[in-house]
Amino acid sequence: MTAINYARQDIIQEDIDAVVEVLKSDMLTQGPMVPKFEDSVSKYAGVNHAVATNSATSALHIACLALDIKKDDVVWTSAITFVASANCALYCGAKVDFVDIDPSTYNMCTSKLEEKLENAKKNNCLPKVVIPVHLCGQSCDMHSIFELSKKYGFKIIEDASHAIGGRYKDQPIGSCKYSDITIFSFHPVKIITSGEGGMAVTKSRDIYKKLSLYRSHGITGIKEDMIETPQNETWNYQQLRLGFNYRMTDIHAALGISQMNRIDEFVTKRHHIAARYDDELSSLNMKIPLQNDFNYSAFHLYVIRADLKKLNKTHNEIYKSICEKSVHVNLHYIPVYRQPYFQNLGFEIGYCPESEKYFQEALSIPMYPSMTDDQQDKVISVLKDVLS
Ligand SMILES: *Cc1c(COP(=O)(O)O)cnc(C)c1O
Repeated sequence: MTAINYARQDIIQEDIDAVVEVLKSDMLTQGPMVPKFEDSVSKYAGVNHAVATNSATSALHIACLALDIKKDDVVWTSAITFVASANCALYCGAKVDFVDIDPSTYNMCTSKLEEKLENAKKNNCLPKVVIPVHLCGQSCDMHSIFELSKKYGFKIIEDASHAIGGRYKDQPIGSCKYSDITIFSFHPVKIITSGEGGMAVTKSRDIYKKLSLYRSHGITGIKEDMIETPQNETWNYQQLRLGFNYRMTDIHAALGISQMNRIDEFVTKRHHIAARYDDELSSLNMKIPLQNDFNYSAFHLYVIRADLKKLNKTHNEIYKSICEKSVHVNLHYIPVYRQPYFQNLGFEIGYCPESEKYFQEALSIPMYPSMTDDQQDKVISVLKDVLS
């Protein structure tokens, strides 16, 4: 049996045909497919506007810019996330800080957030933007975070890179009911893929226009948005801000559109796999992931926490013995502030105690919609072997 990875894409002939179609057409980029993909995702998420980008990292960057993040502003995110959730603030010259996680969901802890906000208020260093991350595909407690945003005056970007297809209190993740902008990733390990790709969605027309400008050099081709020049010229484009080339191509968008046809199927399959893991693994020396009643996770990841005391082994020993048996588990994530780059910014090891504990025990086990029963049997038997 070949090795089983923690995640992989699910590509069928229909997806391939959709991409080949674009390759035979006149437009490879900025054709009809990008706006069609944007429509498909915004309708699915129940939100008005969407801006597709070449990655979620780019989408996070322009989301910060659209919310006016500048030098010396402060942005907070969760300590347990991919580095991109923090780097987007640094790209804008802002300062970044981290909120510890809730020990049961591993998402940003709302009461720790509140405590930290109260302290920041006293010290006059409140964040301008907070970026909650829906880790593993399960939404953060957005209603509470939204209430705090009104009290302390910050804006919210949801990093839903793991979470398209999930729901929070009967709203699809991405509805932006409790946020200004939501970000999705279409990297191949995520819920659906466009190869590389990302999207920023928002209810606000004003934010949408800014996102569109920053995605494409800061240039507009829309007459009403242009500024009158001394020469009173009528050329067809104007650069209004300093933007980037973060555009998605039609080739990528065609794959994304095709994948959207199966998004619910993908998430349902992930739930089946999760339910079977719950049944088979709960008696081992480890914790299965807790799901809140008000959430329907997209289940990007299935994270277990090993009981190191009972197993009398180190995290690394467990990780190695599982991988040696051709089951490629992973760790999502090392607390961001522990990365050498962030250590150089002055963060200390131990900064967020719950995140440290999580980091000592967590393993992402294989979870992807095309996983066969045989593959899952193999994962279960290896885990029973190593974690009993
Ligand atoms: C994958 C991921 C990103 C970045 O996505 P890309 O599309 O690869 O740029 C950002 N945040 C989180 C939480 C992610 O998992």
